Amino acid sequence: MPELPEVEVSRMGIAPHLEGQQIAQAVVRDKRLRWPIPDAVVNFAGAFIKQVERRAKYLILHTDKGYLILHLGMSGKLRVVPSESLVVKHDHFDLQLTNGQCLRFNDPRRFGCVLMSATHPGVDHPLLRDLGPEPLTESFTADYLHRQSRGKQQSIKTFIMDNHVVVGVGNIYANESLFKAGIHPKRAAGKVSLARYQKLVPIIKEILTAAIAQGGTTLQDFTQADGSPGYFKQHLNVYGRGGKQCMVCKSLLKEIRLGQRSTVYCTTCQR
Ligand SMILES: [Zn+2]
Repeated sequence: MPELPEVEVSRMGIAPHLEGQQIAQAVVRDKRLRWPIPDAVVNFAGAFIKQVERRAKYLILHTDKGYLILHLGMSGKLRVVPSESLVVKHDHFDLQLTNGQCLRFNDPRRFGCVLMSATHPGVDHPLLRDLGPEPLTESFTADYLHRQSRGKQQSIKTFIMDNHVVVGVGNIYANESLFKAGIHPKRAAGKVSLARYQKLVPIIKEILTAAIAQGGTTLQDFTQADGSPGYFKQHLNVYGRGGKQCMVCKSLLKEIRLGQRSTVYCTTCQR
């Protein structure tokens, strides 16, 4: 499943091909995605694309006729290809441009979506309006996290993965960040001190930034057949390493399910 860094790299990959361009037509081959693609999407014909923005894992195309919202779901891929290029299975949607290129959306598992909004969806759209801050902005701070967590009994790991608290801290990133910060994933969020949040927040930012930087090396793929930045092969300390030795203290890493997600930690290094 594409995580925030993959979506940000998708944005970086498609934006230069879309910004400033005019839409010739929106072509819906199969509207049955997570939510049906609205019929009114054809009204984007003639619109100019001003900006491609990312909010959480949504891509928002700003045009002079409103906003187009894209989500990659579990298996969605975006690529920029000539409009007349061969359509393959699961190519559900095209945004064809007047310059002969198109943004093509392929999604075998159909958990992605293509939606529209007359006003900026970050403010008004039910899917986006209640999201927490972006992790890589100045509004995501230790003070903020500390304040939000007071009185919360839920585990710190579940807490930082909650999109209403902060967006984009997926399971891999939550596991790795808590290991680096030395915080036990099951510790109650409300019992984590400000000093420990001051350690955790820069680590989350650093891990996400490194993943985006690494993904940036795959940018050329967006105009090629595959179009997927894939999973960024990062150095992982704990995720996927349950039962193996901790790279710091050599204890065996423990693996549990927490909120139905695989959680790996070191009982010595994380408290
Ligand atoms: Zn350890």
